[in-house]
Amino acid sequence: MAKGRVAFDRDLCKGCGLCVSVCPEHMLELDTATINRKGYHPAHVVEGREDDCIGCALCAVMCPDQVITVEKF
Ligand code: SF4
Ligand code: SF4
Repeated sequence: MAKGRVAFDRDLCKGCGLCVSVCPEHMLELDTATINRKGYHPAHVVEGREDDCIGCALCAVMCPDQVITVEKF
């Protein structure tokens, strides 16, 4: 199985949740404990799920604000 790693430019996120709903690994969520510079709960990786990313990049493709970078390895 391919592996990947996702990074979020957190302050660009508008909390729309598209990346959360599209991830086939269900490893993303909105961070309700945080408010970013735009005033939204930004998306992030669920704690402890960092290694579950398969590098499909669906989250990055869906994101309307280019918040997400996917590294494949
Ligand atoms: S690259 Fe794919 S598996 Fe990894 S977080 Fe994004 S949607 Fe989920
Ligand atoms: S799709 Fe982009 S803007 Fe929407 S919650 Fe995910 S990272 Fe934030």
